[in-house]
Amino acid sequence: MQYQEILDAVHATVSPLIGCGRVADYIPELAAVDPRRFGLALATTDGAVYGVGDWQTPLSIQSVSKVFSLAVALSGNNEAIWRRVGREPSGSPFNALQRLENDRGVPRNPFVNAGALVVVDHLLTLTGDPTRVVLELLRTEGGNPTIDVDQRMAKSEAENRHRNAALAHLLASYGALTHPVDVVLDQYTALCAIAMSCRDLARTAGFLARQGLRADGSRLLSRSNAKRLNATMLTCGTYDSAGEFAYRVGLPAKSGVGGGILAVVPNRCTLAVWAPGLDESGNSCAGRAALDAFTTLTGWSVF
Ligand code: GLN
Repeated sequence: MQYQEILDAVHATVSPLIGCGRVADYIPELAAVDPRRFGLALATTDGAVYGVGDWQTPLSIQSVSKVFSLAVALSGNNEAIWRRVGREPSGSPFNALQRLENDRGVPRNPFVNAGALVVVDHLLTLTGDPTRVVLELLRTEGGNPTIDVDQRMAKSEAENRHRNAALAHLLASYGALTHPVDVVLDQYTALCAIAMSCRDLARTAGFLARQGLRADGSRLLSRSNAKRLNATMLTCGTYDSAGEFAYRVGLPAKSGVGGGILAVVPNRCTLAVWAPGLDESGNSCAGRAALDAFTTLTGWSVF
C-alpha cells in the first residue's frame, strides 16, 4: 500500500468517530474550536509528506510542544535536565498538584505540566529565550518560517492559568525554579500556544524518526538521546493513559489538549493527527483511534 492510500483508509475507518470526546474548555479559546475537525499527516524520514482532512490547518499544539522543549534541553548531549526531573509515568492527571507535593518538587517526568515548567526554567538558563529557540527549530525542520505563537490563545490561557501558577509556585517553594515564576509561566504558556498544521508538525518531528538527525543531516540529538526521548514519549507522553495508549497504538507519542497527537515510527516516519475532542485523560479521542487504525493496518508499531 502507498502512504496516501494508508491515510485514506485510516480516515475512512475513523470517520464515524470524528467529533467524539469533549473539547478542552478550561482555556476559553480552545473551547471555541470546531470538534468535527480532523487532520492526519505522515512525513517519511526523507521528508516526503502526505495527508488527509484538515492536515494543513493550524492547530494549537499545546503539550506537544513539550517534546520540542525537551529536545532542545537534551541537544548537544546535555543531560543535566535529568537532575531536575524524573522519567517515570505519573499515573496522575497532567496538571495534578498532589503528585508534585508527594514528590517534593521533583516532577515525575518532563511531559506533565510541572515537569515542563522545570524544562522551561532550565531552557531559560541555557538559551535565554526558550520560545524563540523552539520556534527556530520548528520553522527550520518544518520548512515553514510562518510557524508562530497564537497570541490570542496565549492570552486566553494566561488569563486562566491558575493551576499552572499553583504548580509553578509549589515548584518554587521547593527551590526547583531558578527564574521568577511569572517569567517561567509566560514562556510555558507561549510554547503551548504555538499554532502549526499536522503537515508541519509531522515534518518537524522527523529527527525523532531519524535517530536524532535533523532534516539537513546535522545532529540535533545523540542516538541515545533520541532513543530516550522516544522512550519517554512511549511511557509518559499520553499522561495517565500511557499504558492504554501503548496497548492500542504501540508507538512513542505526545498529545496536547488542543487535540493534536504526534507519533513516531522509528526509522520510517512521523505522524501528526488532530481531532479536538478529548477523552478523560486529555488525549484526542478520534486521534488515538486513527493511530490505532494506522498501526493495525500497517503493522508498523515498535512491537
Ligand atoms: N497549556 C495546557 C496546560 O498547561 C497544556 C496541557 C496539555 O496539553 N495537556 O494546561
